[in-house]
Amino acid sequence: MPHSFIYTAQSARIVFGPGSLTQINAEVRQLGCSRALVLSTPSRREDAERLNQQLGDLGVGVFSEAAMHTPVAVTERALQAYVALGADCVIAFGGGSTVGLGKAIAYRNNAPQLVIATTYAGSEVTAILGQTENGIKTTVKHESILPEVVIYDAELTLGLPVSTSVTSALNAMAHALEGLYAKERNPITTLMAVEGIRVLKAALPIIVQQPDNLQARNDALYGAWLCGSVLGSVGMALHHKLCHTLGGSFNLSHAQTHAIMLPHTIAYNAQAAAHMLAPAAELFAGDLGGGLYDFAQALQAPQALKELGLVEADLDKVADLAIQNPYWNPRSVERQAVRELLQRAWDGIRPE
Ligand code: NAD
Repeated sequence: MPHSFIYTAQSARIVFGPGSLTQINAEVRQLGCSRALVLSTPSRREDAERLNQQLGDLGVGVFSEAAMHTPVAVTERALQAYVALGADCVIAFGGGSTVGLGKAIAYRNNAPQLVIATTYAGSEVTAILGQTENGIKTTVKHESILPEVVIYDAELTLGLPVSTSVTSALNAMAHALEGLYAKERNPITTLMAVEGIRVLKAALPIIVQQPDNLQARNDALYGAWLCGSVLGSVGMALHHKLCHTLGGSFNLSHAQTHAIMLPHTIAYNAQAAAHMLAPAAELFAGDLGGGLYDFAQALQAPQALKELGLVEADLDKVADLAIQNPYWNPRSVERQAVRELLQRAWDGIRPE
């Protein structure tokens, strides 16, 4: 344990457990709200409509245009709907894309936010918003962005496709792994990170075999909450910088990019952060980079950037962008080493 540290607790209210969606009306009232706008992605519109009906007088309608990387143009349309319908809070019903839209609204008008989290990305417990405009992704951090209430109801995740379950959970593990070597790490974030990684590592193989296993789904949400809480408390490093570059400037799918990059970026930092990563390395038989690669392969996660449509000729540009304004990292960020890392990730070769 270090002699001294700073830990700032996040003030979100967590309502956890299968069936907890039944508490949504009470949670809206408890926030002092009475006119909720339900947010979803287009493919989840029917579920959002059902939720709006369940809300009765507390629901004013559905806005179902949430999209990955939170495009500012979508946020502007959602704000118009919020005003036109006289809403006084938002309910983001979905994964990180829908949560991102709720955060983007709250950042602009301070709307109270409730989240019903249905993937394992962990965004719902952070005060961080990544948004995209003119092909550039920027990140803001502000207290208005942190959702006030999060409902984790594993019954709502039974239909989450296995592939999205796996990639969004690997995204969550990335928050925890980078949290282990973060500059601002502290004993509490380390506890949450190790437990989050452990729980997800155990739950994911079960979800792949039995997607309707409620216990494993519940465990995965618990792991997602822990890993997301780490992301909300400490800074991220090279892995997140590379993923933000690939997502924001090359429009690669967020969670899949994390899943592919994670073994390579952690292998890059493994020696420089060996002591800090040790509790996680133990879970992967001592070799974290290789172990994460094998784990992702067993879960049938995507493993090569070329599968996502990135062209090889762009790797130089990614390396250039990634070393401009680099995030703090335990190992110095060297262009040639980063370029080699990107090549392996593009080819899908196991990290050394
Ligand atoms: P997502 O929200 O884009 O969802 C992926 C797909 O799964 C969507 O089509 C969605 O409609 C569908 N889906 C969601 N829940 C479902 C369910 N229960 N059943 C069936 N289908 C379901 O994916 P994600 O990985 O959760 O989020 C990615 C986004 O989150 C990115 O934009 C990323 O930048 C953001 N993110 C932000 C933070 C943060 O702290 N700011 C953290 C992690 C991710």
